[in-house]
Amino acid sequence: MHNFTIANAIAYGQGKLLSCSDSAKLDAQILLAFVLDKAHSYLLSWPEHVLTPPVEQAYLALLQRRIQGEPIAYITGVQEFWSLPFFVSPATLIPRPDTEVLVELVLEHFSDVKQLTCLDLGTGTGAIALALASEQADWQIDAIDFNIDAVALAKQNAKNLQLGHVNIYQSNWFSAVEAHKYDVIVSNPPYIDALDEHLSQGDVRFEPNSALIAPEQGLGDIKHIAQQALGFLKPQGALYFEHGFEQAKAVRDILTNLGFESPQTQKDFNGHDRITWA
Ligand code: GLN
Repeated sequence: MHNFTIANAIAYGQGKLLSCSDSAKLDAQILLAFVLDKAHSYLLSWPEHVLTPPVEQAYLALLQRRIQGEPIAYITGVQEFWSLPFFVSPATLIPRPDTEVLVELVLEHFSDVKQLTCLDLGTGTGAIALALASEQADWQIDAIDFNIDAVALAKQNAKNLQLGHVNIYQSNWFSAVEAHKYDVIVSNPPYIDALDEHLSQGDVRFEPNSALIAPEQGLGDIKHIAQQALGFLKPQGALYFEHGFEQAKAVRDILTNLGFESPQTQKDFNGHDRITWA
């Protein structure tokens, strides 16, 4: 036992995590607040508070998991997206800030459309669909995922966020989607090549391959969705993809070749080409 105060525990955790995390201090604070079941501000208000032995033990155990590389969001079970709390599990990708750009674009492009039908393919935690629903209460939003555990998790998130009107169900891309014409189809599909070295570093090592890896240099699922989407979009409908930052031209070419009009790409917060729509 160290008989840590809150301040000591954070400094200790930061030191332990420096070699494995870019945000060692913040990670230590998040884990300690999680163990204490307190808000972040509590840590700053009570730096001299001494941890009880069970709290200290639990904290050290979580530090150990983080040292092994496990993502913070899988340890705490939650991740913020669009300023909303999302439950996450190893069945799904952890929502990324970059994906908020897709949400922003759809809201911006359709801000004056009150009645809109939208489909989110491969919804995972439900992040995109539920963020859109939180902003546009009258939009009719459907969300599908192939993974039944992801469907259950997205439903749990919908309930927790009081967005139970979003229709979430299991489907292999469009296989169970009814012959319905959508104004907007969105997807953050798997788009990483199986041999990409990005897969051997950081959080992705713990995330499901089924949510990350796609055939044909990562473009296979995007191609499949784009082809099929033609039968599910209204004539003036729009399709939005998140993709890898080196895939923008390939995605625009896929869309153009299928007859989609004027594909455009938007950069993410890091200045990388990330979202393409047509
Ligand atoms: N952007 C994520 C990453 O690079 C991957 C997301 C995805 O494959 N859909 O880690």
